[in-house]
Amino acid sequence: MFYHFPFFATQLSFDEIYIDEVFKEKLIRNFSNPKMHHAYILHSNHLDTAIPIAKACSCLLFCQKRISNNPCNECHACKKIKQNIHPDIHFTFPTVSLKSGKAPISDDFIAKWRSFLSSYTYFTPNQWMDEIVEANKQGNITHAECKKISSKLGLKAFEGTYKISIIYQAELMGDGSNRLLKLIEEPPEKTIFFLLVKDINALLPTIISRCQLLKIPLPKNEQLAHILTNYCDVPTESAEKLAWQSKGIISTALKMFSEGQDEIVDIAIKWLRRCYSFDLQSIGKMVDDLNTLGRQKVSQFLTQLIDIFHLSFQHMHQNLHIEHPNFAFIQNFSKILDPEKIDKIQKSINQTAYQVKRNAHLKIALFGLFLEINNQLKLKT
Ligand SMILES: [Zn+2]
Repeated sequence: MFYHFPFFATQLSFDEIYIDEVFKEKLIRNFSNPKMHHAYILHSNHLDTAIPIAKACSCLLFCQKRISNNPCNECHACKKIKQNIHPDIHFTFPTVSLKSGKAPISDDFIAKWRSFLSSYTYFTPNQWMDEIVEANKQGNITHAECKKISSKLGLKAFEGTYKISIIYQAELMGDGSNRLLKLIEEPPEKTIFFLLVKDINALLPTIISRCQLLKIPLPKNEQLAHILTNYCDVPTESAEKLAWQSKGIISTALKMFSEGQDEIVDIAIKWLRRCYSFDLQSIGKMVDDLNTLGRQKVSQFLTQLIDIFHLSFQHMHQNLHIEHPNFAFIQNFSKILDPEKIDKIQKSINQTAYQVKRNAHLKIALFGLFLEINNQLKLKT
């Protein structure tokens, strides 16, 4: 499922995209140094913040009116980068076969790519694939594209400053990246490479050794909640839950929001309260409601239950303050649990999850789980 946050497209400043403070300082220091390195790997397991970071770094290099280390967002260069049409920024990204049978290059898809970037700031490689193909297909960066990168970077810069090559999912170049080795090692003057990499192990070691590796950190829960509230129009209460549920991954949080998953934590907690009080009438209503929501939501609900027991276990053992929107509940809940109970309940939840996947009767499976949890909670610890 897709979500749409068009207002995101205007963001370029480091203050407006999510970025860890220490990482931000590192980038600003780096791109303010005339002797900076010329080839970077921006690595993250989700790659959802890589494009805005690469664009913000490009702005730092191109902006004609930097304001306290941030791009101005208004000069000619910043405007063109915002619109993804700066003539000296060359985008390379995964593509799929063309109907003509000719080897595809990024320019064949550039209009779609620009329009995609202007609609989505934080996205994953799968979402880009969904945009250009109907079925679940793997994209590729062809040898023809690698050749094209060398020829483009061999040209003079249009605007007379830097030339930047942003290669999204650079690991997909495969052995085609051999063609870029020499260029990355001895690039033409003022040429900068940003290799945006999800699977670092798939990148040729000879490429890795020629680049400076920058690992993009995940935001802390409160940072992510701040971004969701301030830049994605997510209500504060939901943002806190989503930040926790998504384990700090922005694209996951946005996807969960678009699917209404922020409500699932509330449902899970309400369910556990009803299990404890053996409120049959209320549980009957909840089982009906969950049944109406369908199997996918029920699976998400069961995952939430597992997480709550996992956190309670952690709290019991380490007495830690856990970053969770319902910390007070977990604190109290863990008082009536012990490791054996948690183990048994988690096994029951897993078994229910398995039944749900195997098309078992949802209402019967959920009611069975309710009885099992109630039974365990009532046993003396
Ligand atoms: Zn500017």
